[in-house]
Amino acid sequence: MTDSDPKFQCNKCGKTPDDGRYPFETLPAANDYWKRISAVACGPCWDEWKEMEVKVINEYRLNLLERDHRKMLKKFMHDFLNIDGTREAGAAPESPDAVAASWTPENAG
Ligand SMILES: [Zn+2]
Repeated sequence: MTDSDPKFQCNKCGKTPDDGRYPFETLPAANDYWKRISAVACGPCWDEWKEMEVKVINEYRLNLLERDHRKMLKKFMHDFLNIDGTREAGAAPESPDAVAASWTPENAG
């Protein structure tokens, strides 16, 4: 094993190609942001998020035409998939309620 051969590891479940995990392939957009997401999220976890996304949109009545709502959805996604590596890989995500509670819309006040 060499350090020059960085291996994909999912930030959410902590699994690697040795466990049969690979990044998801269908990026919502072909830009650096989504490339960064796919570098730390495996296919099965991405599928989990797509299900969760629908629940979150319904639960919090997000209107994706509104910029703030889109940003909130992104925050849910970052937490769910541990995009920023704020948790140990494999640790449970914060509850959506906790994410929502810590959310401040840009134009609040
Ligand atoms: Zn995963």
